[in-house]
Amino acid sequence: MTLTQVIDEVGVPADEAAGGVAGIATMPRRIRAVALPGDGIGPEIMDAVQRMLAAAGARIDWEECEAGAGVALPGGLPGETMDAIASAGLVLKGPLQTSLGGGGKSANVTLRKHFELFANIRPARRLPGVVTPYADRDIDLVIVRENVEDLYAGIEHMQTPDVAQCLKLISRSGSRKIAEAAFALARAQGRSRVTCASKANIMKLSEGLFKEAFEEVAAAHPAIQSDHMIIDNLAHRLVLSPESFDVICTTNMNGDIISDLTAGLVGGLGLAPSANLGAGMALFEAVHGSAPDIAGQGLANPTALLLASLMMLRQAGLPSVAERLEHALYVTLEDGKELTPDLAGPRGIDAGSTSAFTDRVISNLGRRSKAVPSGSGCMPVVQEVARGRVHASTRGQVRSDAGIDVFVEFAGDVPSLVAGLKAASAGLPLTLAMVSNRGLKVYPGALPQADFVDHWRCRFASRAPGDELPDGVLGDLLTRISRFARWCHVERLQLMDGTPGFSVAQGQ
Ligand code: NAD
Repeated sequence: MTLTQVIDEVGVPADEAAGGVAGIATMPRRIRAVALPGDGIGPEIMDAVQRMLAAAGARIDWEECEAGAGVALPGGLPGETMDAIASAGLVLKGPLQTSLGGGGKSANVTLRKHFELFANIRPARRLPGVVTPYADRDIDLVIVRENVEDLYAGIEHMQTPDVAQCLKLISRSGSRKIAEAAFALARAQGRSRVTCASKANIMKLSEGLFKEAFEEVAAAHPAIQSDHMIIDNLAHRLVLSPESFDVICTTNMNGDIISDLTAGLVGGLGLAPSANLGAGMALFEAVHGSAPDIAGQGLANPTALLLASLMMLRQAGLPSVAERLEHALYVTLEDGKELTPDLAGPRGIDAGSTSAFTDRVISNLGRRSKAVPSGSGCMPVVQEVARGRVHASTRGQVRSDAGIDVFVEFAGDVPSLVAGLKAASAGLPLTLAMVSNRGLKVYPGALPQADFVDHWRCRFASRAPGDELPDGVLGDLLTRISRFARWCHVERLQLMDGTPGFSVAQGQ
């Protein structure tokens, strides 16, 4: 079963056929989708959105499934839910709660990773009638966020009782896939520029690989402008001149943070939709979470999930229903009656409830907003965006060993540590080359004026760089180090096509 599964093709409306999504030959009249109401305000906003979709004439066969904190299973995702998603390929999802700390994994991240939903599309567009400090600015940008790699691989270790580590994994293939999605989206939506946002100035290998892959892909799309901006400067520029951005392509955590920022620019989290796309699979949701502070009180704004559902309708080939509902929403926002508290507050008017707002949108079906030109229909997304080709590597064909980094827990002073490490490597084909603490070199040379923690990186250089280090050498080294310090982590230092595949220390 695929994303645009057609259940009943009889009687396709003419307007639907005319306004279809590129590449989909026959427009579906009925579609099948999984609904995950989720946690907190999730059930309230899902109910509201399903009511609005039904009133607008969207014929959707919903399969409602359980997910989230209410499910008595680690991870919050029952097998039946995963099977239903795999079968339907199309999902509208409410927010799923994730506990802070503890061992439980995020169900949101599990869904994205399990179904390889690698492209997270987060549009931020000025909405009519929404009062913000930026209301007169022509904001219309899309964040294309890598969705399955980076720090969100969630690979963490306590190195010592007081030092934690999180691995930031970035692959060339994953980076190329998201860059291709960004350019495909720009082409499909007639956008002219894609900006890569990275922190490659500091994380030269991981964020640097992302930037390099982006530039490789950009070179194949000369008709679309491309540039690069360091992520912190991009955050600054977004606040100063958001209308100057078009498509922003970035890594997982950068995208997570700046998409909340861009949601704030256009009125807040209650208005920000997102699509998670992979090959043959699409999951639509609000950017916001389960909002436990307002759950069950009828205060939640269903607009973000509604906009996400409109992206879903367009993806599934129902653009005219989407446009009808979108205009009913815009007219409701412009009229300013029965707005939920997050929208009514800044306008200084009385607020309505989630259900009163929903009823108002439904009563406005058939009206068109004058502020938004006909046919501009926000956020068209096409399947092409998520083709998701996996790229075979042509790099690192010639590898050799340059040494070993051993990370140890040690509570003594630097001279004692260095003496112990030198003794440990005596007679082995390794030389103590450098010791650092939190990435700052403490040996050789003068001690920096810094606080030290009990976690040290001890770099041993191979005496015969280029030769393979026999595996037994590492065992001997760790055995000797264990006599005076506790090793917790080991990294192989490799040269790849002659280039160091490891960073140097600050001050080295
Ligand atoms: P949140 O997005 O739930 O709430 C942040 C603030 O925005 C709150 O004040 C909330 O009341 C408000 N808000 C959010 N959505 C709103 C809406 N539709 N209408 C009106 N106001 C709204 O962020 P949080 O409190 O940090 O997270 C709560 C839980 O949600 C956590 O467990 C978190 O892990 C989870 N979460 C899930 C998702 C997801 O499912 N994709 C995304 C983000 C957070």
